[in-house]
Amino acid sequence: MAIARIALPVAVYGEFDYWVPSGLSLVEGSLVRVRLAHRARVGVVVGLADVSEIETSRLQPVTEVVAGFAPLPADLLAVARFVAGYYHEPLGQVLAQMLPPLDREAGPRRHATPLAGPLTLTAEGLAELPQRLARSPRLAALFASWRAAEDSVIAEHELRALPSHVRAALRGWLAAGWIEPAPDVPPAPAPHEPNPEQAQAAAAIVAAQGRFAPFLLQGVTGSGKTAVYLAAAAAAVAGGAQVLLLVPEINLTPQFERRVKDALPGRSVVTLHSGLAAGLRRRHWQAAAMGAADVVLGTRLAAFAPLPRLGLVVVDEEHDPSYKQQDLVRYHGRDVAVWRARLRGVPVVLGTATPALETLLHAQQRRYDWLVLSRRAVPEARSPQVVLADDRTAPANEGLADALVAAIGQRLTRGEQSLVFVNRRGFAPSLLCSSCGWQAGCPQCSARLVVHRDAGELRCHHCGHRARLPRSCPDCGNVDLFPLGHGTQRLEAALAARFPTARIARVDRDSTRREGAFAAIREQVHAGEIDVMVGTQMLAKGHDFPRLTLVGVLGADNALASADFRATERFGALLFQVAGRAGRAGLPGEVIVQTRYPDHPLFAALARNDYDGFAAALMEERRAAGLPPFARLALLGAEAPERAAVERFLAAAQQRGLAIVREQELDVEVFPPVPSALARRAGQERGQVLARSASRGALQRFLARWREDLDALPARGVRFALDVDPAGFS
Ligand code: ADP
Ligand code: ZN
Ligand code: ZN
Repeated sequence: MAIARIALPVAVYGEFDYWVPSGLSLVEGSLVRVRLAHRARVGVVVGLADVSEIETSRLQPVTEVVAGFAPLPADLLAVARFVAGYYHEPLGQVLAQMLPPLDREAGPRRHATPLAGPLTLTAEGLAELPQRLARSPRLAALFASWRAAEDSVIAEHELRALPSHVRAALRGWLAAGWIEPAPDVPPAPAPHEPNPEQAQAAAAIVAAQGRFAPFLLQGVTGSGKTAVYLAAAAAAVAGGAQVLLLVPEINLTPQFERRVKDALPGRSVVTLHSGLAAGLRRRHWQAAAMGAADVVLGTRLAAFAPLPRLGLVVVDEEHDPSYKQQDLVRYHGRDVAVWRARLRGVPVVLGTATPALETLLHAQQRRYDWLVLSRRAVPEARSPQVVLADDRTAPANEGLADALVAAIGQRLTRGEQSLVFVNRRGFAPSLLCSSCGWQAGCPQCSARLVVHRDAGELRCHHCGHRARLPRSCPDCGNVDLFPLGHGTQRLEAALAARFPTARIARVDRDSTRREGAFAAIREQVHAGEIDVMVGTQMLAKGHDFPRLTLVGVLGADNALASADFRATERFGALLFQVAGRAGRAGLPGEVIVQTRYPDHPLFAALARNDYDGFAAALMEERRAAGLPPFARLALLGAEAPERAAVERFLAAAQQRGLAIVREQELDVEVFPPVPSALARRAGQERGQVLARSASRGALQRFLARWREDLDALPARGVRFALDVDPAGFS
């Protein structure tokens, strides 16, 4: 009897055996439907055999092959096995991460791609729609004017003027792939002659075609890294190869997609990210698998795209924390991309202004080729001037230092744009009673509740808990309750009070929740209809605001004082990025940072525009503390409603770990359990055990054994997960 060994997306290690009905032809990599515990599941065939260890009478049959999907290629199965092994996750879970939503109903949400302008008609839409609209004059008229428009593009403001039933119809068009988002930027200017550094970098990458060659491409924002990627991509595509291009975030950076398409005229560029409607994501995935797509541009999940002719991998903003997935399979998209390049024997380019310390160390130790773009590509663009506003000597007024207010005023008179950056959304991070010191806390989490004054609510940013804003202190009855600290909403209000005629836009997750809201703000900023933007890190990513000459940074001290060992690195990278936004198009830029630690070496390095100096100082701290990149970490996180249960489980886990280390004489430390930084979340008590080793191999051997033993520990009501190379201590 023919037996198929199938990996299924369940939290169980090992594969499942099914018998193969005659007439079904299966190979390794085939996508199949089976039943498991009375539920239909999609799995991947990872082996075929003649016998099973399970009694034949107890085996179930494979239900069917998933229609329309070619088997996964062998190299992708190899990547899946590698990832499953490295992160100690079941193979079926990893494979499930790789696949697009296979059923319409299985998509994340039915219309996950927001209906946001600008939108363009696809080739499919142009062919299909005319026949389908005969009975709907309203839609037929819309289609006709759309087709006649320049580039067949309809803009956000036109979209918003449409009645809601028409918008509903357009959502269907979007899901069907008849229309798709069009980047909202003017066509990129004609390509420039590369400067000597760019030419050298591109030539080095092109020369490495056909073999595994990792590159760090380091260059400040605006130094022309994208031009280098695109030159290398064009060469690869011209040679018949496919290119994988990873970015941290696509929805926020439509400019990038536009540039890629403009740089490769006549080539097929498809996107892959979790925001795509299920149907579109499936089609793009298929185009990659069939080799029809020349370039796959996507977020971390695209690191798993099937690419039969893969010839080049590029990871833009390789330092970005969003490459690390924080649940299910806790993989790092950049690292997966590098493994893929290694397994396939192709070059991989990691581009950034602010390399992750891991990447930097590889470059310093010459495991990666180090390409540097030392200047901004636009000759007249100068690095911004950095000013520190000392919050101790010149206390801020409603959160804003006098120096910053004065600088914004200047920009307003000159008709230039300003950006105020603060990494806190809401009105104020906390509510305080002036009489007894009570602060509003979340009943479910060990966290303060955030004041959202426009909604009249307190909200927990960890679990979503909401409560009415109290009129008086629940402890002492005092009615003087103070919002403590400054979020984006409060700064927006403060700026509006200071500059009543200024046009201010707030950009954070609250203000951009509505479909198309962010696109609309971007249109306004580019049209010069916004003077001041206030926002969170959403503003830090890859935007090119032509008249922006001032960046104010608030809340820096939260990151600098954090207990998480990666917080300073992350904030430093963000700061160098936002600083890079100022003064791009020939206008000189200024960065004003409000802080109580003006002597922090980060700021001196920022003022010298010296990321390397900053990174060198951090590197020494990490070396001294035995932290990554000088050590390898794995974090066992556990949670349960009762703290005692978590502590019991983790104590047993540590004991098991110590025993393994002794038995196998491994150079691994296993630390005692501690509560997580957020000790309680959504009613769950949380704790962790850290394992550390100077050797990746030793840690991997340890984890393989530990993982098995953990499954055997009594863990009543405790959920746990291993995080290899954790992003931080959360
Ligand atoms: P990065 O990706 O490093 O942030 P970009 O590739 O976006 O930099 O380039 C920044 C700006 O410089 C863009 O407006 C781009 O058109 C321009 N640019 C790139 N290369 C050159 C060049 N060789 N000469 C002049 N301008 C260039
Ligand atoms: Zn009180
Ligand atoms: Zn909460």
